Amino acid sequence: MEKYDLTVIGSGPGGYIAAIRAAQLGMNVAVIERDKPGGVCLNWGCIPSKAILKCAEVYQYFKHSGEFGIEHKGLSYDFSKVIDKSRNASNTLNKGVEFLLKKNKVNLIKGVGKLVTKNKVGVTQEKEQIEVETDKVLIATGSVPVTLPGLEIDSKLIMTSDEAIFHREVPDSVVVIGGGYIGAEFAYVYNSFGSKVTIVEMLDHLIPGADEDVSRELEKNFKKNGIDVLTGTKFKEVKKKRKNADVMLEKLSDGSESKVTASMVLVAVGRRPVANDAPTSLSYYKKSGGIGLDDVGVQLDERGFIKTDGSYMTTSSNVYAIGDVIGPPLLAHKASEEGVAAVEMMAGLKSKVHYDNIPGCVYCQPEISMIGMTEKQVKDKGYEYSVGKFPFKAAGKAVGTGETEGFVKIISDKSTGEILGAHIIGHGATELISEIAVGRTLETTPLEIAITSHAHPTLSEAVMEAALATLGRARNM
Ligand code: FAD
Repeated sequence: MEKYDLTVIGSGPGGYIAAIRAAQLGMNVAVIERDKPGGVCLNWGCIPSKAILKCAEVYQYFKHSGEFGIEHKGLSYDFSKVIDKSRNASNTLNKGVEFLLKKNKVNLIKGVGKLVTKNKVGVTQEKEQIEVETDKVLIATGSVPVTLPGLEIDSKLIMTSDEAIFHREVPDSVVVIGGGYIGAEFAYVYNSFGSKVTIVEMLDHLIPGADEDVSRELEKNFKKNGIDVLTGTKFKEVKKKRKNADVMLEKLSDGSESKVTASMVLVAVGRRPVANDAPTSLSYYKKSGGIGLDDVGVQLDERGFIKTDGSYMTTSSNVYAIGDVIGPPLLAHKASEEGVAAVEMMAGLKSKVHYDNIPGCVYCQPEISMIGMTEKQVKDKGYEYSVGKFPFKAAGKAVGTGETEGFVKIISDKSTGEILGAHIIGHGATELISEIAVGRTLETTPLEIAITSHAHPTLSEAVMEAALATLGRARNM
């Protein structure tokens, strides 16, 4: 039987990064993966969705090319090729993960992993069943989409992101249930390619958890572009018909009911951990059962996520867990950071994830990025704070390139200058947030950002101007 210092179950951004770091630290490591290396992120999530979003953006550029002085005759798209492009991106990257694991001498074992004991993992492979012995186990099995009671995912009319990411047709009309980041990204894509899109969110705003100014700006933009945004609205049921479905809704403020008919219903209401059995319509998951947690004493919290302590050890010694399977935020970079911290601590190093400094991004247009607290959270915590807001329409680069929507908003503590939160909506927002993340790691105040030379013209000047605005010194506004 093969023997390892560490066996990782799952090769998503949590698992494969943890494995590589562990190998760098001298451990003999195996990664068990039942599907393609790279996990949800590379194969069904972050990467293919961003490829599709880029195609939607390019199509929009073509539709509005007259604004750039460019005329063309006839415009069409082949959505199947859009999906091909996204699959190519996924395949390039999952091969890259395989290469990186090999380069770092990590043994990638294909099959479904299940804990037999704390020191033994069984692997069900296509033709045989093997076992590996291991000193430690790291569970990085990720998450799958949540569905709603009474909603059967049929991959034709009713889908989650797992099906939609492969779907080669643009529906005439779509109801997106859930106005979080996955719902907003798909809403943007389908609307861009000509679907009639309705997005339904139970809470008062899209992108729950975002600063309200940002959510409002996104809602304004979506509505301007023809998306029906129904916030404060509850999904009740779907009545399937031959070619489409009636989606029954209830306005929470007054209980009034309405109906939207659509040829696709996309359920984007969150994700749940792959801890015990979590069946989905994905064929790859049907092959697997639970991962043997009960057998070795690994406990779950009330929401089904694996319980861990500060060193990512589960309730079973020598069994660790990281990434989506241990809870929110369900983000790829958070999973990777936890993977690194977990194995560094196993190796006796000091390591920590700074949960209050993890950026969150939404990649529709306009893009959204956020870090730290929202203005409401800052207010509720009783801070005396300053807000510096700078609209992109006052930034030279944005005006020159025609990307004037949105703003940068920085919130700082009036007495210490600490940057408590930053919220950006607009073109390039997802790249701009890293400046604030580094600033917060270095404990800079808006002053250090404001006195740092920012190249002109760049969109990052809007970050500098927002920092100046917190000091009451914005120059271009
Ligand atoms: P996963 O990536 O879920 O990987 C888990 C792996 O474990 C999978 O490969 C699975 O096959 C394997 N596995 C499970 N059980 C077993 C078993 N028993 N044996 C062997 N292998 C097993 N996050 C971002 O940060 N940015 C984004 O832009 C973003 N966009 C997204 C878009 C979509 C449409 C979706 C669905 C998600 C998106 N996410 C994004 C979230 C991101 O994909 C996840 O947070 C991230 O993949 C979690 O990483 P992980 O390593 O914890 O698990």
